[in-house]
Amino acid sequence: MADKKAIVIFGATGDLAQKMIYPSLYFLESEGHLPPDLMIAGFARTHADDQGFIAQTRKDVMDNAGTLFSEDVWSRLAARMHYCEGDVTVPKTYAPLVKLLEGVTVCVYYLSTSPNFFATIACQLKEAGLAHGGARIAVEKPIGRDLVSCREIESALDETFGDDRVYRIDHYLGKETVQNLIALRFANTLFEPLWNRASVDHVQITVAETIGVERRWSYYDSYGALRDIVQNHLLQLLCLIAMEPPSDLDPDSVRNEKVKVLRSLRPIGAGDVERQTVRGQYRKGVSEGVAVPGYTEETGGSASDTETFVALAAHIDNWRWSGVPFYLRTGKRLAARTTEVVVQFREVPHYIFPRSDMIANRLTIRLQPEEEISLQIMNKAPTLEAMRLKPLALDLNLSDAFKKQRRRIAYERLLTEALKGNSFLFVRRDEVEMAWKWIDDIIDGWKEKDMKPLPYSAGSWGPSSAFALTERNGHSWYE
Ligand code: NAP
Repeated sequence: MADKKAIVIFGATGDLAQKMIYPSLYFLESEGHLPPDLMIAGFARTHADDQGFIAQTRKDVMDNAGTLFSEDVWSRLAARMHYCEGDVTVPKTYAPLVKLLEGVTVCVYYLSTSPNFFATIACQLKEAGLAHGGARIAVEKPIGRDLVSCREIESALDETFGDDRVYRIDHYLGKETVQNLIALRFANTLFEPLWNRASVDHVQITVAETIGVERRWSYYDSYGALRDIVQNHLLQLLCLIAMEPPSDLDPDSVRNEKVKVLRSLRPIGAGDVERQTVRGQYRKGVSEGVAVPGYTEETGGSASDTETFVALAAHIDNWRWSGVPFYLRTGKRLAARTTEVVVQFREVPHYIFPRSDMIANRLTIRLQPEEEISLQIMNKAPTLEAMRLKPLALDLNLSDAFKKQRRRIAYERLLTEALKGNSFLFVRRDEVEMAWKWIDDIIDGWKEKDMKPLPYSAGSWGPSSAFALTERNGHSWYE
C-alpha cells in the first residue's frame, strides 16, 4: 500500500509561510510534483477553521502567482488543506493534529516559527506520538542565537527525532544559482586550476537589501545582520566557493568539505574586530526614490544597538586560500538589492600593454535580482591607435538561457527534497555549530571593545568604514 503523506506547517499564518511556502506548494501542485495523497496542514494560534485558512491562503497564493494563478490548480491544492488552531506550548492543542494525522506514515513537520519554539514543538510532537519513524522535522534558520542556544535546540531535536531526520533549512541552498556554483566549479575544467591563492586576489560576497526591517522588527532587533544573514547564507556561499572538490554528490561528501572550510576560518576575536569588521545601523534617507525612516524610528523611536549592516574581512587558513581575503557584506536599506559573489583574479605578472588600460579578470556570479554569471576579460579596442585595450564581459544570463522555464522559488526544491527524505540541500548539525562558534567570537569581540553600530543613510552602501575595510588592502567593493 502507498504511504499516506502529510506536511504540517507550524507558523502557518506567518510571513514566511504566506510569502514562500504556500506559493511553492501551489507551483509544485501545478506541475504535478506533489505526491497524490499528500495532506497539507497549517498550525497557528490565529482563530480559523479549514475554510478560513484556505481563503486566506488563496489570497497569499494569488498575490504571488499573479497571472500564473489557475482556479483548477487552486482547487486541487485547497482539497489537500486543513487547519489546526493551537498554541505550540500547550500540550492539549496537539490532539486535533493527532486525529488529523491518523494513518499518515510519512510526515514532514515544517517549523516556520521563532527558533524559541523549535525544542518545545519537537518535544510536544514526541509526547503526542507524532515523532514516529516516518516523521521528519524541518527547521528554518537561524537555529538559536548563539552556539549555546543552538546546542540546546539540537539536543532536543536529536532526542526526539534523531539527527538523520532533522532537515535544517538555509533557503539559499534551494536556489538554482547556488546549486549552479557547484556545477560551475566542478563540471568545467576552466576554473578549477585557477581557483586558489596563486590566481585569485580576493573574493567578495554581498547580500544587499533595499527594504528595511519593518514588520520583522521585534525578531530582527534581537538578532541583527550578523546572526540573521552572515551566520547562515553568507557562510554557506563562502563554503561553496572555497571548498575542495567533493569525491561525489553524496550529501555527506559535500557537507564534509563545507565543514573543513568552516574549521579553517580564522577566528575574529576582540583583538581583530576593530580592523576586520564594521557594524552599521541605517538612519533615515531615500531608498529607491522614497523617503524612509531610520531603523530606530520604525517602531516609534526605540533605542537599539542592533546592527542592520555588517562587513567583514575573513581569512581561510589552508593551502588553497592562505593570504586571500574573503570580504563579506550584508545590510538592509542599502543602495541596491543584489546578492552576488565576485572572484577577483590577480593582475597579469608582466605588462606588455599600457598598464592604465589593464583590469584584472573578474568572475561575477549574481543570484539576485537576475541570475547571471559574467566573466570580465580584456580585449583590444577597435581603434586606429596602437594596441588599446578595453574590458568586456562574457555574459551568461541564466534567465535568457532557460527562458521557457519559470524561475522557481527556492522552497519548491527544498520541500520536494524534504518530502523525499533527501538531505543533500540541507545543512548538517556540525556546519551550523561551527558557524555559530565563529560568529560568537565576533559578537564577544564587539562586546569587549564596546563596538556600537555606525550610522549610515538609508539608500547608501553602508558606513564609510566599510570602504576603508577593503581599501586598506588595496581593494574596493564592486557595486
Ligand atoms: P512570523 O511572521 O512572526 O510568524 C510566526 C508564526 O508563528 C505565525 O504564524 C504565528 O502565528 C506563529 N506562532 C507564534 N507564536 C505561536 C504559538 N505560541 N503557538 C503557535 N503558533 C505561534 O515569522 P516568519 O517571518 O514567518 O518567520 C518564521 C521563521 O522563519 C523564523 O524562524 C524566521 O527566522 C525564519 N525565516 C523567515 C524569513 C522571512 O522572510 N520571513 C526568511 C528566512 C527565515 P499566530 O500568531 O497565528 O499564532
